[in-house]
Amino acid sequence: MKTTSKAVNRPNSTILKSVTKPGRYAGGEYGQIIKDKSRVKARFAFCFPDTYEIGMSNLGVRLLYGALNQHPDIWCERVYDPWVDMQEQMKLHDLPLVALESGDPLEVFDFVAFTLQYEMSYTNVLNMLELAGIPLRTRDRAEDDPLIIGGGPCAFNPEPVADFFDLFNIGEGENMLPAIVELYIRMKDAGTYTRASFLHEAARTIPGVYVPSLYEVSYNADGTVHAYTPIYDDIPKRVTKQIIRDLDKVYFPDRVVMPYIETVHDRIMLEVYRGCIRGCRFCQAGMIYRPVREKTPDVLNEQAKCLFDSTGYEEMSLTSLSISDYTQLDGLCDRLLSWTDENMVSLSLPSLRV
Ligand code: SF4
Repeated sequence: MKTTSKAVNRPNSTILKSVTKPGRYAGGEYGQIIKDKSRVKARFAFCFPDTYEIGMSNLGVRLLYGALNQHPDIWCERVYDPWVDMQEQMKLHDLPLVALESGDPLEVFDFVAFTLQYEMSYTNVLNMLELAGIPLRTRDRAEDDPLIIGGGPCAFNPEPVADFFDLFNIGEGENMLPAIVELYIRMKDAGTYTRASFLHEAARTIPGVYVPSLYEVSYNADGTVHAYTPIYDDIPKRVTKQIIRDLDKVYFPDRVVMPYIETVHDRIMLEVYRGCIRGCRFCQAGMIYRPVREKTPDVLNEQAKCLFDSTGYEEMSLTSLSISDYTQLDGLCDRLLSWTDENMVSLSLPSLRV
């Protein structure tokens, strides 16, 4: 981990007043997690390569932010791509990209992870790395630069952006990301850490980890991938996506960060199930989130009450790929309506398939 030479990193109030929506950059929201950085062993910057309003609406960020922060040795913070007016100010005043919680620049973090939700965000990833002063390509990074992780749905096809990521986590991250950071902490504690040895050990021992620099990729004449060949015998030939089998038992955040400005989805997102029973051939989500795994109505009802108590939101969205395919929808709605009506909480059922 590096230290920063800059005395001031956060934009000051004069800069904040000169840009649209300063609330994107101020931090300090209710529900944010602050830790003593001198007492944690690994710092993790969770980057959403798009604006604050879009990133704060992402369910995966909410889940993984909480899952990482429940570990006492890990501090996970949030980072979003600044809008162009703030980017101009940052360049003008020589300010680096910082995490919202601590205001520290990304270069001091152990891990900088990007969730790749759509390919249109790839240029934003590069923009954020550039604003952070982190070398864009893996091969140009030094021993003490942060390790750059890619995850999310686009990580299932990592090759177009493989030069920019030290490792990818393929599949669901609630267990995999803490396992990656725990390995890092163990190797640091044991004095066996080097960047190369960590990447090798992660690829060798943690299912779902793909380290592009440890594979030779050959191509067919039409540009499609012919084969991935590991350069070491102890690296898996095929990286298997990781899934959480029992969603009732997976980590669930009992509170979320509450934005002070309007975001795209500013409500409770109650994740009902993952996967989809349909097999529409054009649909990436229907393929990569297989198999279907449902939460039970009793667990969902308790989680919904918990989120209502901790946030006070007046709207709750039952989140899934196709909510009308949830096999216990009637029972779930009956349980929820028994207390949401009197508390003036409205239920919304997006992604209805009729
Ligand atoms: S129903 Fe919707 S989510 Fe499911 S496979 Fe079809 S398009 Fe995808």
